[in-house]
Amino acid sequence: MSTATLSGTCPECETELTVPSVVQGETFSCPECMLTLRVEAIVADRLQLSMVEVQLRDWGQ
Ligand SMILES: [Zn+2]
Repeated sequence: MSTATLSGTCPECETELTVPSVVQGETFSCPECMLTLRVEAIVADRLQLSMVEVQLRDWGQ
């Protein structure tokens, strides 16, 4: 049903991003700066994105 794409701006490199439908909490990589971004919220088809610090170690020991 939903074929709409969503758009947002990378908080790091300010590239305008258009992605297939994502859900809140989903992560994807910015194609420009390769940073991992997380969808914090979706407001009026605009993605509210935040940077995710990639953890190289698993802290849940
Ligand atoms: Zn970026």
